[in-house]
Amino acid sequence: MKRILYAAFDQLNLNYGVLKTANPGEDAIVLVESARMTIGRPWHKERLFFLFSSARHFALELETRGFTVLYLQAATTLEGIAEAKKTFGELPVYCAEPSSHVQMRLLSEAGMHFVPNDFFLTPRALFFQWAEKQKSYVMENFYRAQRVRLNILMQGADPVGGRWNYDADNRLPPPKNYTWPDYLEHERDAIDLAVAKQLGIEATKTWATTRAGALRQLEYFVSTHLAGFGPYEDAITKENWALHHSLLSPYLNNGLLHAEEVVAAAVSAFETQGAPIGSVEAFVRQIIGWREYINGMYWFLGEDYRNENQLGATRKLLPLYRDSSKTKMNCVKSVVQDVEQRSWTHHIPRLMVLSNLALTTGTNPQEFLDWMREQFIDATDWVMVPNIIGMATHADGGKLMTKPYASGGAYLNKMTDHCKGCFYDPKKRTGDDACPFTTLYWDFLDRHKDAFKKNHRMFQQMSGLNRLSDLPEVRVRAEEVLRGLGAGSI
Ligand SMILES: Cc1cc2nc3c(=O)[nH]c(=O)nc-3n(C[C@H](O)[C@H](O)[C@H](O)COP(=O)(O)OP(=O)(O)OC[C@H]3O[C@@H](n4cnc5c(N)ncnc54)[C@H](O)[C@@H]3O)c2cc1C
Ligand code: SF4
Repeated sequence: MKRILYAAFDQLNLNYGVLKTANPGEDAIVLVESARMTIGRPWHKERLFFLFSSARHFALELETRGFTVLYLQAATTLEGIAEAKKTFGELPVYCAEPSSHVQMRLLSEAGMHFVPNDFFLTPRALFFQWAEKQKSYVMENFYRAQRVRLNILMQGADPVGGRWNYDADNRLPPPKNYTWPDYLEHERDAIDLAVAKQLGIEATKTWATTRAGALRQLEYFVSTHLAGFGPYEDAITKENWALHHSLLSPYLNNGLLHAEEVVAAAVSAFETQGAPIGSVEAFVRQIIGWREYINGMYWFLGEDYRNENQLGATRKLLPLYRDSSKTKMNCVKSVVQDVEQRSWTHHIPRLMVLSNLALTTGTNPQEFLDWMREQFIDATDWVMVPNIIGMATHADGGKLMTKPYASGGAYLNKMTDHCKGCFYDPKKRTGDDACPFTTLYWDFLDRHKDAFKKNHRMFQQMSGLNRLSDLPEVRVRAEEVLRGLGAGSI
């Protein structure tokens, strides 16, 4: 053997990263299940199941292809690599650039040889070139530059269909009398069952743990859900936990799928199968726009960005996040139950329910970040940090998003069907049955009026606040709501 190749659990792909140059005769491949990943934090068991079973399947696939593979359990990644050196000798160790600041630092200090991380469509240096020229980092501008650079959905210099963005046609509320297609189930094999047993859980069929399963999910999404993706992408319904979302983030993030093939499949459905441009464009924007932008900003904003708390939010994480029985709020209960069950909810429950509550209650952003990071199947540092610190809690003072995503019950009543039958009334901001979101929305604006009055994008909201005749009563009710949420009785 001439080299040791370290494959991280988010780089499980033979065609990218360090493995694309792997040679069975010369390279030994090492994968490490570190204790930090298992017992280091109260990780969601479904998440651990997915990550471990995917890695163990991948290791077996490598062996089947003739590679020498060492799959280790060790206290840390570095101890695992030291173990590999004992097995294979003092060989140089290579890996693809890690996806987090901490791993980048630790592995650099350990003398690792890096190859570029090509699990994204945008090299880090290229993103920096874009970001350094911007006055503010508007995702839509980055996305349009990506469409041109990657030549995706373009007709010469113009966007196919004549528009860059079909958001205005989308954003529909949940439809009535609608038949949602079933979601794919993934059958379990002996590796899955062994991992589930080790974790003390029943193996569910929600998530694939092989590349073949991830590809089936991609094909099923494109053939069954892509056409409906755009119109209902912002809706939440109690009738269906995933709506037309793709459920592809876990595989994109652990390497089983690459963004390039996912985008190609969606574009091909538009070009050859008549998939509607409004849905295809909306989906492509998530991948070549949002996903790449968030990763680029993670590196651009630096390691200290995660500690930002510019709104001075100090409240401890509310008990309802760890236990859905600790709230009577229908929307919150249902979303937390989804997380408990599957370790996943789509974008809008993450943003407009879980994060909106953390933002308007003044929950400490780092505590909320820790919880989200532990609970979600697709959570990795590069994606959670900008989404939580920037998009969800506005803790960066507006570096990523120019205004906070705070909303009252009226928006949730429009985009969800949870308010009907809820103990609370989305229209009320005071009284025992006032919707906590509605009360907290106004109280949040009031608490931060000095910070927001200079923000022209908050002009409408601040004018609304100034017109509020019952602000003293709202403040009193907000205190009751915050006490009740802390006690698990609201
Ligand atoms: C507070 C918060 C936390 C989030 N945490 C994560 C996370 O830990 N991991 C994660 O992959 N996504 C995260 N997202 C983004 C998004 O919610 C998920 O990617 C999406 O819900 C995954 O489901 P899907 O694959 O069905 O996505 P779809 O709705 O089908 O979208 C397709 C793909 O677009 C990409 N995407 C869309 N929005 C974003 C975004 N804001 N950031 C990065 N990628 C995006 C994802 O790769 C996703 O798979 C977060 C969003 C918010 C608001
Ligand atoms: S009334 Fe308020 S708490 Fe109840 S479901 Fe609607 S938005 Fe959620």
